[in-house]
Amino acid sequence: TYVVTDNCIRCKYTDCVEVCPVDCFYEGENMLVIHPDECIDCGVCEPECPAEAIKPDTEPDMETWVEFNRKFSEAW
Ligand code: SF4
Repeated sequence: TYVVTDNCIRCKYTDCVEVCPVDCFYEGENMLVIHPDECIDCGVCEPECPAEAIKPDTEPDMETWVEFNRKFSEAW
């Protein structure tokens, strides 16, 4: 899965949302999040993010961000 990280906070771009083929972006409190079970790992959103906030969970220490994305994508 891909996850949204803190560079997204108060970012106003939604380029990532527009390209996602499965619409798995959700609104968090002050940033977007990706639902980790809905993301199909296609990777098209990563280069679209001007803030470089979207990262694959294969990077080190991403477990906290995966849980954060899950929590806020299921919050409503
Ligand atoms: Fe959507 Fe693909 Fe990005 Fe996952 S990797 S959030 S499926 S655009």
